[in-house]
Formats: sequence, structure tokens, C-alpha cells
Amino acid sequence: MQQYEVIVVGAGPAGYVCAIRCAQLGFKVACIDKRVNAKGKAMLGGTCLNVGCIPSKALLDSTHHFQFLNHEAKTHGLKISGLEADVPAMQKRKNRVVQTLVGGIASLLKKSGVDVFAGTAGFMDSNRIRVEHADGTSRELQGKFIVIASGSVPVAIPVAQVDGDHIIDSTGALELRDVPERLGIIGAGAIGLEMGSVWSRLGSRVVVLEALPDFLPTADQAVSSEAFKILTQQGLDLRMNCRVQGAQVKDGAVHVEYAMDGDKHLVEVDKLVVAVGRGPDTEGLHLDDLEIKTDQRGFIEVDSRWETSVKGIHAIGDVTGGAMLAHKGSEEGVALAELLAGQAGHVNYETIPWVIYTWPEIAWVGKTESQCKESGIEYRTGVFPFMALGRARAMGDAKGLFKIIGDAGTDRILGVHIIGPNASELISEAVVAMESELYTEDLARTVHAHPSLAEGMHEAALALDGRAIHI
Ligand code: FAD
Ligand code: AMP
Repeated sequence: MQQYEVIVVGAGPAGYVCAIRCAQLGFKVACIDKRVNAKGKAMLGGTCLNVGCIPSKALLDSTHHFQFLNHEAKTHGLKISGLEADVPAMQKRKNRVVQTLVGGIASLLKKSGVDVFAGTAGFMDSNRIRVEHADGTSRELQGKFIVIASGSVPVAIPVAQVDGDHIIDSTGALELRDVPERLGIIGAGAIGLEMGSVWSRLGSRVVVLEALPDFLPTADQAVSSEAFKILTQQGLDLRMNCRVQGAQVKDGAVHVEYAMDGDKHLVEVDKLVVAVGRGPDTEGLHLDDLEIKTDQRGFIEVDSRWETSVKGIHAIGDVTGGAMLAHKGSEEGVALAELLAGQAGHVNYETIPWVIYTWPEIAWVGKTESQCKESGIEYRTGVFPFMALGRARAMGDAKGLFKIIGDAGTDRILGVHIIGPNASELISEAVVAMESELYTEDLARTVHAHPSLAEGMHEAALALDGRAIHI
């Protein structure tokens, strides 16, 4: 039996980052992942790299270029003829991007001295793991600490069972080779909207069915209502308050039944994407045998040091629930490694940025205005539109707004909400400011380069007490 100080189950952004940091800190580390290619080789990087963040962004970027060339290039004086979207070529490029990055993670783990095993891990007891390899062989590893970073899988709903052909999940939506004429999506979360944007830009008529009455309820209302308006203008048919009750494939089409305002409705589509959230992937781990506690939905319960109910077994990333974001899992991986090494690992959950990669992008950090109201916090807001930024106008991309919420008493930044071009990058300034416990006045007094989109942050901070110059 091979002996390790730390065994990490899962090589997603939580697991592989934890493994590398553990190795940097001097531990002897093994990292196991069950995702393998046809040759039985580990496809490291988890959901994020293989079927999540990266492939979705590759397709979003390709289709964003297509959208620009098709509709906006002419406003820049660019005449384009013969433009065509070659979807198989687009998919090939996406797969190359993924392959390259998967290879990169293998090199990083190797360079760090982490032993990688391709296979499914299951607990034998609280410090022994059996790894079942694809070729039917197995091996046993013993570890002082075991970290579960097994991630998540799409949630299945009985009313629309994924058949991998007409009814698909996010993985299927990333792999389509033809543009469906009519595309249905269940769930208006980040994944549903990103997939809807990709295929709508390529020509699909997209209808999104969402059970909740409000659009993007976790975003600030100023941003979600602007997003609803812009995405609708782009052609997404966003139907709120619609609970899907059934989906049948008939004559090559999917008949989707849903209830809205007490009435039954039907919509017919060529493909249906089920994007109703993600649940923990704990299959085959034998958590019950060890009495590792999970919540009602199966997410592993951990304490403030990411330790499960069993001493020496920790869990990080999507499998623990909370914000199901790659960067949240990675930060937990680093913090846990540092705690195991006796250092002071810490994650500030108040400053985790959220991003939805539609165009314009949507990004936020901290509290929304409704959350401030609900908690009885006295606050001020400063809003600044992209329309008033010279750089946004020069780019021809001026939809959206910045909104900063500051504490009325202390002036601390409580939340920053952006919808606009490059919001995913712009939000980092707000994250650093909040992590550093800056005041809105600090943002107002910080020199921002001109012309730049980041000037919007500066102006929104000035707008908090009516000092914005360009509105
Ligand atoms: P995962 O990435 O799910 O990795 C877990 C790994 O554990 C997997 O590789 C799995 O094979 C392995 N595993 C599971 N069980 C076992 C076992 N028993 N033995 C061995 N190995 C096992 N997040 C963002 O922050 N930004 C985005 O833009 C973004 N876009 C997304 C787009 C899509 C379409 C999807 C589906 C998700 C997206 N996410 C995004 C979410 C992000 O992918 C996850 O939050 C992130 O991957 C979680 O990391 P993790 O390491 O916890 O788990
Ligand atoms: P997220 O968890 O952010 O990926 O979003 C998934 C969305 O799917 C949530 O907003 C849910 O309200 C929505 N949803 C879940 N089940 C259904 C259903 N049967 N019909 C329509 N929407 C649903």
C-alpha cells in the first residue's frame, strides 16, 4: 500500500490546487481523478476545465466574435461578406483549448511532485482509499489526511429526463455540432443564460423557462432588470414563473409542458437543455460507511476548517455546496493546505466575485441593495452608465451600468454590481477594494486611466454623493 501525507480525491479547481499547495508546503501528495479519456489517461481539471468554465467560455468567445462580425462590424466601417459559422471547427478549437489546459495541469502536478492516479476513489476506512482503474485493476493508498474535492454533477429532474440526444444537460449543450433551429432551456441561471447566448448568436431561436418569478434573483435588481432587457433585445425569449412539468420527444421534436399562472402551456423545440443547477458528486465514495455527514441535498457538511464529521477527512469545492464557483473551490484548496501545514488558511466568503459571461457580462461582489434593506443597513448608492464612458463609446459597446453600494455611516464598500463589457475583469478592482476594507471615498480618490472602462468605477464612487463628473 502506498503511503501519503495527503490524498486528494478529485482534480478539479478545488482538488488540483489543494494538491499543488500541499506539495509546495512539503507534504507527500496523491491526487486521484476518475475522469479518463479513451486511453484511460486522467482528464485533469474537473468540471471546470473539461465541461464547464473553459469550454463554455471558448464557445462564448467564438460566438461573440461571430456576433460582432455579423452585426456590429459595419458600424466600425468594416464590410464583411461570406461570413459563415463553421460549428464543427468551433468545437474543434474549443476541444484544443481544453486539451492544452488539461496537459498543463498534468505538468503542474508533475512539477510539484504530486502522484496522479486515474481511477475512481472509494473510502476503505478513514485513512485508506481504494482506486479502481478503468482497466479493472485497483490499488490502495493510505493517507494521514484525505481531502474530498469530488465536485458536482448536473441535477436531473424527472419531468425532463436527459436522453443525450434531444434532451441534454450542459455537457450536451457544449457539444452540439449543428445549430438547433429551436432551443429550449430549463433554468435561467448562469449556465442556462450562457448556453442560450452561445446558440442564439449562432441562429437558434432560444426560449428559456424559469420557475422563479424574478430574473437573476441573486443579482442586484438594477443589474438583473438591465440584463433582462438587454438579453431579451438580443432575442432570448425569457419566460419567468414557468415550471416545467413534462417533456416528451415526438417526431424528432421535444414537446415541453409548463405551468404559468395556473395555466398549462406547451412549447415545441428541437433540443432541450436541462440547466436547473448542480448537485454533489459523492457516488462510489462510500461516505455512509464512514458516517460522513451530508445535508438534505447530499452536500458534505464541513466546519470552519473544512473538516467533515470524521477527523482527518476534509472536503472543499462544489461537493460542500455554497457558491459553486471554480475560484471559491481553489481558494478553499489553498487555505486548507495551509491549515494542514499549521499555517493560518482563510477564505473571505464576503468577497467572492460572481460572474455570468453573457454579453454584456454581469459581475458582482458583496451585498445587493435588497440584502442591505433586509438587514436594516443604512446605505448610499452610486450608479454610473457605460453610455457616459468615452472608452465604451469608442468601442461601440456602451450598454450597462456600474453600481456601488456604500455604508451610509462608515462609508465601507458593501457591494459592487456591474453589467457591461468586460465586467468579469472590472469586478477585480472592487474585490481588492473590499478585501482591503477600503471606503467608497478611496475609489473616488483613486486615479483611473483615461480612457478606460474602469473609469466607470471611479465615477460610480463619485456618484455616491453626487460628485460624478460625466452625468
Ligand atoms: P469539479 O470541477 O467538479 O471536479 C471534481 C473532480 O472530482 C472531477 O474531475 C471528478 O471526475 C472527480 N471525482 C469525483 N468523484 C471522484 C471519485 N470518487 N474518484 C476520483 N475522482 C472523482 N464556475 C466559475 O467559477 N466560472 C465559470 O465561468 C463557470 N462556468 C461553468 C460552466 C458550466 C457549463 C458548468 C457546468 C460549470 C461552470 N462553473 C463555473 C462551475 C465550476 O465548473 C465548478 O464550480 C468547479 O468546477 C468546481 O470545482 P471542484 O474542484 O469543486 O469540482
Ligand atoms: P442555477 O442553480 O443558478 O444554475 O439555476 C437553475 C435554475 O433552474 C434556478 O433558477 C431554478 O429556479 C430553475 N429551475 C429548477 N427546476 C425548474 C423547473 N422544473 N422548471 C423551470 N425552472 C426550474
